[in-house]
Amino acid sequence: MTDPTTLDAHWLEIYRHLHAHPELSGVEFETARLVAEELRALPGWEVTENVGGTGVVGVLHNGPGPVIWLRADMDALPVQEETGLDYTSLTPGVMHACGHDIHVAALLGACAQLSADPLPGTFVALFQPAEETGSGAEGMLADGLLDRFPRPRIVLGQHVSPLPAGLVLCKSGTLMAAADSIRVTFNGVGGHASQPHTAIDPLLMAASLVVRLQALTARQAATAATPVLTAGALHAGTRPNIIADTAEVLLSLRTFTDSSRDRMLEAIHRIAQAEAAAANAPVDPKVEPYDHFPVTTNTPGDTERVMSTLTSAGIPVMPLTHPITGSEDFGLFATAANCPSVFWHIGGMSLTSFTESDQSYMLTEAALPPHLPSNHSPHFAPDPLQALPAAITAMVTAARAEAHPQPLR
Ligand SMILES: [Zn+2]
Ligand SMILES: [Zn+2]
Repeated sequence: MTDPTTLDAHWLEIYRHLHAHPELSGVEFETARLVAEELRALPGWEVTENVGGTGVVGVLHNGPGPVIWLRADMDALPVQEETGLDYTSLTPGVMHACGHDIHVAALLGACAQLSADPLPGTFVALFQPAEETGSGAEGMLADGLLDRFPRPRIVLGQHVSPLPAGLVLCKSGTLMAAADSIRVTFNGVGGHASQPHTAIDPLLMAASLVVRLQALTARQAATAATPVLTAGALHAGTRPNIIADTAEVLLSLRTFTDSSRDRMLEAIHRIAQAEAAAANAPVDPKVEPYDHFPVTTNTPGDTERVMSTLTSAGIPVMPLTHPITGSEDFGLFATAANCPSVFWHIGGMSLTSFTESDQSYMLTEAALPPHLPSNHSPHFAPDPLQALPAAITAMVTAARAEAHPQPLR
């Protein structure tokens, strides 16, 4: 039997390589190649590449038993890394700032352990592209995932988070928000900066929109499941002495119900139109939603069982009382397969990153303390020495227990 210490060292090396070589959504060519190569080297795994683009699917038949799908996403983000790690990204402007490199290395590590599992069951490992753009799961499903591979009894997935390494956060029911990206384009009238009365300034409309939207979430939408609305990008103009003729604002909206989503989309539309009207814009602004993610829902019953399995295996599990405002396309697999699914967050940070007051804030608020880097930050740096073994153990423990809901002994 392979020495687990050697295995960990290998997956650690794979993690560092992935971290240093991040690839953006949909172009995870080298990542997929590496995943397929590593998976083929493990006993029993049948590997299929190019599923829905760069997706890789591994199947391990260990005899009759339930089919368990295990999912990891592979893409990185357009972020310039500032962690200063010695395995920092070698690709300028691209970084594994969401920790999907941990997911890939951990699922490979889990596959290695499942190879050696003498118990029956079928495991399907999904290495999914393009989670960040909300198109990867959809792409794999559109490429016949459900017909080409054994259908799941349950789908399991996890996400590394900026919490203490190994701590699992989970809840039954709504776990994560729906997300929409929205592009708002204002058209004005360009002109000379010295003659603003001859122009209609779209930059001012965009800036007013961003300020006015803060009031939307703070006042109108301040219900128990308050949505989150962030302006992540604002593009306008080229020079100080030119009044631009267009301005674009990119928004990220997180909601927990369809009615809240509809209301927010309508309000964004109304406020954008009102800003354009107030500025006497020559045409209405364009408000275009794109990149939609559904609400992530954990199946009641199955979720409690997975949480108790992890707890029994000595993994600390913190039950969440409220859903998380992050979003995922993970839920699409179980929706398409009409089966249960369970997703959890697992801490990836070294304990030394947290003061005592951080820890008590986290326990009370079930949220990240304000000064610590979150996913997507250029400083997001999980500690793989702690995060990787924890994520491998969580995935293997849940997968084995789900394949054998009634223990053989
Ligand atoms: Zn992300
Ligand atoms: Zn992510």
